[in-house]
Parts: sequence; structure tokens; C-alpha cells
Amino acid sequence: MDSRPCLILFGPPGSGKGTQAKLLRQTVGMAHISTGDMLRERIASGDELGQAVKDIMQSGGLVSDELVNRLVEERIAQPDAEKGFILDGYPRTVAQARLLDCLLRTRAIRTVVVHLKVDYNVIIARLSGRRQCPNCGALYSLSPNSPAVSEVCDYDGSRLIVRDDDREEVVVERLKAYDSQTAPVLEFLRQASYPCFDVQGEGRAPQAIAREIQNLMEQELATGGGRA
Ligand code: AMP
Repeated sequence: MDSRPCLILFGPPGSGKGTQAKLLRQTVGMAHISTGDMLRERIASGDELGQAVKDIMQSGGLVSDELVNRLVEERIAQPDAEKGFILDGYPRTVAQARLLDCLLRTRAIRTVVVHLKVDYNVIIARLSGRRQCPNCGALYSLSPNSPAVSEVCDYDGSRLIVRDDDREEVVVERLKAYDSQTAPVLEFLRQASYPCFDVQGEGRAPQAIAREIQNLMEQELATGGGRA
């Protein structure tokens, strides 16, 4: 039996899942598990599997369920996930959601799902204005998270780059993959009786969104909710 909480941050690419996970990690002390970050680390390792992952990511498609399921299963067993964990970018297919459902149920992990809602036009504008530090991975946007010095990483001074998969034509493919493969996951989670909340992910400060998510999660878990 396992009483740690899990927050599934759900939403299209560019809806702010990564930003919210980073803010919440600081306030609620849960581990941030981003399958996108784990896959980028794999690419950086430069091995054959990393190259195959890179080709898929650059096309805007999804990496195999088998690989991401294995990465997540290993990751939630790490010591820093013992106090609970936030899933960012996972599950992205119904097959992934089935495996996750099984993991959560066998461990009786209390889980809350938050769906970040953002208009697709806002997403395209956000992602094409996004920059990343090639060294430490920090993400910036033109606003409200712009770096102190234009095009330079606040943390280590590296010159910022546009992520390969943030190019507009790739963003359009990523949104198509979201519509066809990922959007049905929300219905799956609802049907499986996980508490699911819609949260407006645009038009206000990221900190205000994080507070709303934290309140929802605390209320749900305090009332004994959170599907296990
Ligand atoms: P993200 O950083 O979450 O936007 O992910 C970037 C890219 O990594 C996606 O466009 C996919 O190619 C791949 N990816 C990330 N998470 C998953 C996942 N759960 N399943 C399959 N592919 C993924």
C-alpha cells in the first residue's frame, strides 16, 4: 500500500504543463516526471536509440508506448518520487493510460487529473516564441517568462535556441498527434473514475494557475478523494 499522491497534468503541447510542474514541485515537494525531458536526455546520450527518438520527435510524432512506459515505471521507483510525483506529458495514448492505471491501482496511489485548457492559436504563438537553453534545458517565452538578457539563459549564460520541435510546422503535427492520440486519454481517465478538473491555462499569471491546481489537489486529497 502506497499513500503518496500523483498529479497528472494533462493538456496539449504548449499548454504550460512543464511550467506548472516546476512551480508545483517547489511548493508541494512532489517529483516532476516529464517524459519529454527524459527522452531529450536519451537523445543527448547519443546512442542508437537516442537517434531514433530524435527523428520521431523532430517529425512531431509520438515515441513508442513500450519505451515511455518503461521509462516512467523506472522513474516512479526513484527515491525522489517517494513523496509523490507530477506527470507532465504522460500518458499520451490510451495504451499508456492503461499501463499507468494498472501501476496506480496496484500501488493504491491517490491521483488527481488536471486538464489545462488553452486555445490552439495561443499555443502556436507561445511555442514559436519559445526559447530553450541548450545547456541546462531552461525554457523561456517572449512573455511572461522572458530571460533578463534577451536570448541568454539566466542560469548559465548560454545563448538560447529554438527547440527543433517548436518550429511552426512541427507544432501543427504535434497538435494533430494530440487530437488523434492524446485527447481520448482524458475520456479514458474519466471513465476509470479519476477525479478530473478543467483549469483555464491562459490569460493569467502562471503562479495563479499553480495556486488553483494546488487548491484543487489539496481539497480532493483531504476529502479522501483521488482515485486509487
Ligand atoms: P514534450 O516535451 O512533452 O512536449 O514532448 C516532446 C516530444 O517527446 C513529443 O512531441 C513526443 O515526440 C515525445 N514524447 C514526450 N512524451 C511522450 C509520451 N508520453 N509518449 C510518446 N511520445 C512522447
